[in-house]
Amino acid sequence: MTYSSGAHAIRGCIAHCLHDPGEGDDPNALEVYEDGLMIIERGHVVRVGPAEDLLPTLGDNIPVEDQSGRLIVPGFIDTHIHYAQTDMIASYGEQLLTWLERYTFPTEGRFADRAVADETAAFFVEELLRNGTTSALVLGTVHPESVDAVFEQAQARGLRMAAGKVLMDRNAPDYLLDTPDTGYRESLELIERWHGVDRLSYAITPRFAPSSSDAQLARAGELARRYPDTYIHSHLAENRDEVAWVAELFPWSRSYLDVYDHFGLLRERSVYGHSIYLDAADRRRMAETGAVAVFCPTSNLFLGSGLFDYEQTRRDGVMTSLATDVGGGTSFSMLRTAAEAYKVSQLTGSALSSARMLYLATLAGAEALDVADRVGSFREGREADFVVLDPQATPLMARRNARAESAADTLFALFILGDDRSVHSTWVQGVCQHQRNNMGQHRSAGAVVDGDRRQNLSATCC
Ligand SMILES: [Zn+2]
Repeated sequence: MTYSSGAHAIRGCIAHCLHDPGEGDDPNALEVYEDGLMIIERGHVVRVGPAEDLLPTLGDNIPVEDQSGRLIVPGFIDTHIHYAQTDMIASYGEQLLTWLERYTFPTEGRFADRAVADETAAFFVEELLRNGTTSALVLGTVHPESVDAVFEQAQARGLRMAAGKVLMDRNAPDYLLDTPDTGYRESLELIERWHGVDRLSYAITPRFAPSSSDAQLARAGELARRYPDTYIHSHLAENRDEVAWVAELFPWSRSYLDVYDHFGLLRERSVYGHSIYLDAADRRRMAETGAVAVFCPTSNLFLGSGLFDYEQTRRDGVMTSLATDVGGGTSFSMLRTAAEAYKVSQLTGSALSSARMLYLATLAGAEALDVADRVGSFREGREADFVVLDPQATPLMARRNARAESAADTLFALFILGDDRSVHSTWVQGVCQHQRNNMGQHRSAGAVVDGDRRQNLSATCC
């Protein structure tokens, strides 16, 4: 096999999931090459396998980035996050509905100023990369410019991102309200401007049922039918008071989920944050329609919302992914988020294996966003988004991992103890976009160079 002149390779312990390991922890789901090599051409994975087999195929001209001793996994996929809530992370003392009033609405109001949106979006995208996240499903604010700002930053760094303007025409301060018509028109303009451009996609984003009128939800459903390959992104059954409020606001509905169903907002590519308080009929309906339930463990714990039953949801056939839900969530790190998912699952009666946590942080997100043919694993032809993880990032991690019995054990300790300190470097389509320097600090690789130079640096910067 011959490779093009721009090809390059990376060597290290390579681990990725081929499918959901499931409750029984199917040993064939996790593929590990302890001394592995991944060959990348034009930003895509060409081959992955044992270094001793693949190195002789390379010839002299293909550079090999040696990351031996480190773990190379697919870039993390965060399927529910609010970029505009970056500054209000770790806000004290409230549960969902009062937290929205006290912290969220005033914070999101600032995004009427495009400069605030641009500055926050730049920080947000950098923070995703610092944490190894290369794909995300993102909520903006009610202001359409907030979505332009985050798409521009994602585009500049090559991230795969879906985002949308929040639709909200009631039960919020006047300065944050749109109308069924303006919300429809602004969403449509954003779809025309961004959907399908580079790695960007649009998400039709009613905030949650209580903040949209019947008329607005109907228009959102209309838009979802008109653009069937856009995402629908919202919140569902997060908090008991919220669920009771939805029952008051929509007295005809059988359940919270039924409201979205009624307005045509359940289909493939519809993604619902939290989805904690669902009954068996709701789960059956989600499974039938291909809607996704998103497990947001740090947020569900922080806001006292409740315990998401991951295994039950999966058993009922509902596609399920993992997300940070910053700023209700307390970390941008999908490692920390998976660790909290592990703890919540312990409380609901199961123990997630390291393969299952890796699946949740990577391939499950790709499946939820219907892009598993592009990202989420290292199967041939996938876009080469990956993270190099350092199992020795701190003295404690080094000590624990010195006793690791297998790559799966190293991975488990990385998930339970790890965070942004564990991210050695983050690569997007084969290009290093972030690296930690030798002092344990982090710097951006991509932000300091233009596109062409960045390409040239790709094989050498980390
Ligand atoms: Zn949320």
